[in-house]
Amino acid sequence: MPLPPRAEVVVVGAGLAGLSAAVRLAAAGAEVHVVDAADHPGGRLSTQVVDGFTVDRGFQVLNTGYPRVAADLDLAALDLGWFWTGAVVRHDGREHRVVDPRKHPTAVVDTVRAPLGGLLHEAAIGLFSARAGYAPVERLLAAPERTAEQALRAARVGDAAMERFFRPFLSGVLLESGLETSSRYLDLVWRSFVRGRIGLPARGMQAVGEQLADRLPAAARHWGTEVTGVAGDEVRTTTGSTRADAVVVATDPGTASRLLPPVGASAPRQVTTHLHVLDTSPRGVPLVVLGEPGGQLVNSVVVSDAQPAYSPDGRALVASSTLAPTREADVREEVARAQGVAATDLEHLTSVTVTGAQPAAVPPLQHRRPVDLGGGLFVCGDHRDTPSIQGAMASGARTARAVLRRLRPGAGQA
Ligand SMILES: Cc1cc2nc3c(=O)[nH]c(=O)nc-3n(C[C@H](O)[C@H](O)[C@H](O)COP(=O)(O)OP(=O)(O)OC[C@H]3O[C@@H](n4cnc5c(N)ncnc54)[C@H](O)[C@@H]3O)c2cc1C
Repeated sequence: MPLPPRAEVVVVGAGLAGLSAAVRLAAAGAEVHVVDAADHPGGRLSTQVVDGFTVDRGFQVLNTGYPRVAADLDLAALDLGWFWTGAVVRHDGREHRVVDPRKHPTAVVDTVRAPLGGLLHEAAIGLFSARAGYAPVERLLAAPERTAEQALRAARVGDAAMERFFRPFLSGVLLESGLETSSRYLDLVWRSFVRGRIGLPARGMQAVGEQLADRLPAAARHWGTEVTGVAGDEVRTTTGSTRADAVVVATDPGTASRLLPPVGASAPRQVTTHLHVLDTSPRGVPLVVLGEPGGQLVNSVVVSDAQPAYSPDGRALVASSTLAPTREADVREEVARAQGVAATDLEHLTSVTVTGAQPAAVPPLQHRRPVDLGGGLFVCGDHRDTPSIQGAMASGARTARAVLRRLRPGAGQA
């Protein structure tokens, strides 16, 4: 549907940030139009069907410990399939389950016996988790800031737990293995793991954005329309231009900095994910297997163990990720070792490299960056808060409030 020549609000970008802003603005009675270059909503949370398998664009998960996810999404409608909270650590050719003992008491003994440096270090991990999970957020954000690695060392988790568990586990979350990310962001991410569960929607991660988009009137959604420029109140697209009282740029950070030059973009993180099919699942318990020190894989996981709807026929769908771009042939043996199968058992389905997966969040954490640029221009996205689903949704909520302050001064907030 073409954009009208005049609108109250135009939101550029139908990722979780733009959609979160638009849904709030529409609910507050604003006439809002959302434009996206892609042919579907959801942005970086996108899903394809390949040979009947549901394939997300890179291994990604929905964490119900994120405050905005819990408050703003209809989780029941997403029909989530669940991972266990924890991971499989491989060491000396053996597998060890390391889990959150409160959530998976049947694996407590495995966790205690895992090669993480002994009981004192495991107690230190417990204390670190309790603080991140239950201290007030304000206290976490006021703590002295350092890198994630420095924070874990200060928490005395020990070398074994650092190299066998934290580094590979967090590499898969932060998309960097140096653990140079801000300790404040580490605290927030760890808090969400302690407080929430990790799941996959039955129709894939794109269903998250689709759920938000469905809350907008059909006339407000304009997919397949690229915005080529934003100048003052004018939004130029490949099919024409529109003037608006408020323009919200909710694209990826690189595009935001091209459309709005004062907005800087931090270095993006990248990830390559290889998808394989196995006749049957080698493990049955929905746990991520961590890459071993010295290997290329950060993790390998049978996603269909958590969400059986990802497979059309009961075969197992395996997603294995590396930080550096790799070819499938480079990692096939390592995937086979991680899953305890022969390399010849793995049927390669597809591979994807996502270059702009997340903005970096190194110290100082630029949490709650300004979203109101003045003159009716606004910017939102994960690069305004934290590089996550939570950050994108929170920035959208914040931006909607800022837009309403401009459009309806004196009125209540969305
Ligand atoms: C592989 C991968 C794994 C991830 N794993 C997790 C995870 O497990 N947990 C987590 O919390 N986060 C994860 N993330 C990060 C999370 O997905 C993002 O932080 C979040 O989705 C960003 O949302 P956004 O709305 O800010 O930006 P985006 O999703 O990038 O949305 C921007 C939108 O703008 C549109 N756009 C861009 N340019 C234009 C233009 N010129 N005209 C019109 N439209 C345009 C794009 O098409 C896109 O739809 C992962 C990301 C990736 C890629």
